[in-house]
Amino acid sequence: MRRLNLILLFAVFQSAAYAAAPAPYDLYLKGDLLAAASAYMSEAASNQDGGRAFLNAAMCLRQAGRYHDAAGAMLKALAFSPHDADIYTELGWLKFHQADYDGARMAFETAITIQELHPRAELGLASVYSNLGDKEKTLAHLEKYRRLRPDFAGVDYILAWNYMNFNMQKEAEDALIEALRKDPSFTEARLPLAGIYARQGKFNEAWNQYYRVLDYAPGHPVASKMMKVLEGKLTKQPEEIRPPFRITRPLVMAPLDALASLSDSVRIRVGIGSTNTGKQGRNNFLKFKSFEGLAVTGKASGKVFAQIPPDEAWTAAYEDGKVALKGRDGTVYGRFQGKILLKPAKKGGSVVFEASSKCSNPWFRGSDRQYRGYIELYPIPGRGIGVVNVVENELYLLGVVPSEVAPQWPYESLKAQAVIARTQVLIRRARGGVHKKDGYHLCDGEHCQAYNGMSAEANTTSRAVVETEGEILTYHGRPAYSFYHANCGGWTQASKEVTGWGDSPYLVTKPDIAPSKSESPLDPWAFQLWITGNPQANCNYPGRVRSSEFRWMKIIRQKDMTFRVNRDYDVGELLDVIPLRRSPSGNVNSIKLVGRKRSVTVTKEHLIRNILGFTSLKSTLFEIEINRFKNGRVRNYWIYGGGWGHAIGMCQSGAAGLAGKFGRNYREILDFYFPGTDIRRIKYVKMPAKPPAP
Ligand SMILES: [Zn+2]
Ligand SMILES: [Zn+2]
Repeated sequence: MRRLNLILLFAVFQSAAYAAAPAPYDLYLKGDLLAAASAYMSEAASNQDGGRAFLNAAMCLRQAGRYHDAAGAMLKALAFSPHDADIYTELGWLKFHQADYDGARMAFETAITIQELHPRAELGLASVYSNLGDKEKTLAHLEKYRRLRPDFAGVDYILAWNYMNFNMQKEAEDALIEALRKDPSFTEARLPLAGIYARQGKFNEAWNQYYRVLDYAPGHPVASKMMKVLEGKLTKQPEEIRPPFRITRPLVMAPLDALASLSDSVRIRVGIGSTNTGKQGRNNFLKFKSFEGLAVTGKASGKVFAQIPPDEAWTAAYEDGKVALKGRDGTVYGRFQGKILLKPAKKGGSVVFEASSKCSNPWFRGSDRQYRGYIELYPIPGRGIGVVNVVENELYLLGVVPSEVAPQWPYESLKAQAVIARTQVLIRRARGGVHKKDGYHLCDGEHCQAYNGMSAEANTTSRAVVETEGEILTYHGRPAYSFYHANCGGWTQASKEVTGWGDSPYLVTKPDIAPSKSESPLDPWAFQLWITGNPQANCNYPGRVRSSEFRWMKIIRQKDMTFRVNRDYDVGELLDVIPLRRSPSGNVNSIKLVGRKRSVTVTKEHLIRNILGFTSLKSTLFEIEINRFKNGRVRNYWIYGGGWGHAIGMCQSGAAGLAGKFGRNYREILDFYFPGTDIRRIKYVKMPAKPPAP
């Protein structure tokens, strides 16, 4: 009895002590940065080896915008480890961002004396000399940096930026092209390249670059405006500048005997050509055909309105709130207020939409599109023609897997993708999902899961679907939330960390590294070196995965950042950007935007990604450094980031790494990313055919 009391007392004492002084790391994750810094400082004072604690304090102070204090803490850390090149380098950056170029140069040079090959110190020296206007030294250090991180598109971008400053147009152009070769989604590199082309009078090329910006950043204000400006100056038709992809023959796949059985699965409805929020695009005009011939029928009446011969293209136009069906010569075959169906004349046939410059929706304008199953068309008042693909689930997956991952990836990662894509569909089909009001189960964009139809199909991915037919991911016997993302940046994020994602026990945070290794969460100092470096990870997989998806950077001008933030929040001139709350993975889950008029805190994942600059960040896994003039005003923002997507669930690049580098099979891959789940095989129950009408 007495003993038990003692234990109880001890427990009370312990929790009281904990409540009085939370660990500095917890304060850092919570975004209580100044409290975290002072907790690290007192830890440093009471610790023989306080160097690490000073470094952590410095990182918290820097994140809070206190660069001067952060530099002070770094100097204290140097007393413990006077020969640490990383410390000198980060000290150099703190000085650089405060416009102390002499101090920065000395720190970077010391770092390089200690460690000859230090990419971040080389970048630092280049940045210092760039600001001092020393062309030769700037370029020499950037070239060294490029040799140390050759795959990193950020290097070429910074090189280009400097070439432009030094008025070296040709070199700038080449560097931008190189950056885009390494990272086609690098919009910040595409815009100046378009500008260079426009200044040289190469209007077609400039127009093409702006067009490609819109591929990655739909509705980008500068690109949209410039395309209109350039339209009158083009010497070629847009279709000649960017020839559409054409489908001229039926698709012939390696014989897959199992394919026939796939068509027995349940039918699902997919919104086609959707916007980035998953809504129907504005379709004013569509041109379609089938290699097998098409029957056009009324959905409600079942009446056949037209039989279109094989390979003959007809059109549908949105006119006066109706869908006008027209034959090859323009003859109107009907104007429909209800839904009409385009059904291939043969089982296993497909519907092809032909690219046409008359289509207002870029999805149907730039490329031919081909779909299994059949198509439903209907007028959406004030908007255009709705397009839904009704297709058997397993046949739909044939088009999803190659749209989501590269068909040449290690085979077991394709199977993992097939299982989780299938699970996503069944969850959405059962619950109605976000597109219930839109009248389909999923859209065809990244908003739900990418689906480019039959033209995307590949033999490897089709085999992966067939071999996993009916298999889904389950937790306690029910379909699991099988979220996935392109690249986690090296650490997956638990769903409960992110506003609005719920708490599923199998959506956990863990390092995305070889399954045998384990790693504890990174403290602020380790995180800094990790996010700005090139660490080991399953998803750091050169040759298979673009390096720019694993590590990326952005430099955003103050003018652009202030403009972008004020479009959503009236904060006035932006004075500071402070990431507050972080997941143990390092993902930022709330960010404070400090303006001259007022401050706002943004907590939603997609809002955080969209508010910083004109094109959204690839992920919320980032570190931001603010570069200021001597007078303290902001000059620009340097963002070092990792990964692509929300980092919850399966890392697609990491799955490729687990399969390719470590020989894991798809069950092991799914167990790695969704611990505690099972794979079960469902049986599709065919609906009994309707009895014939009496
Ligand atoms: Zn969607
Ligand atoms: Zn990963």
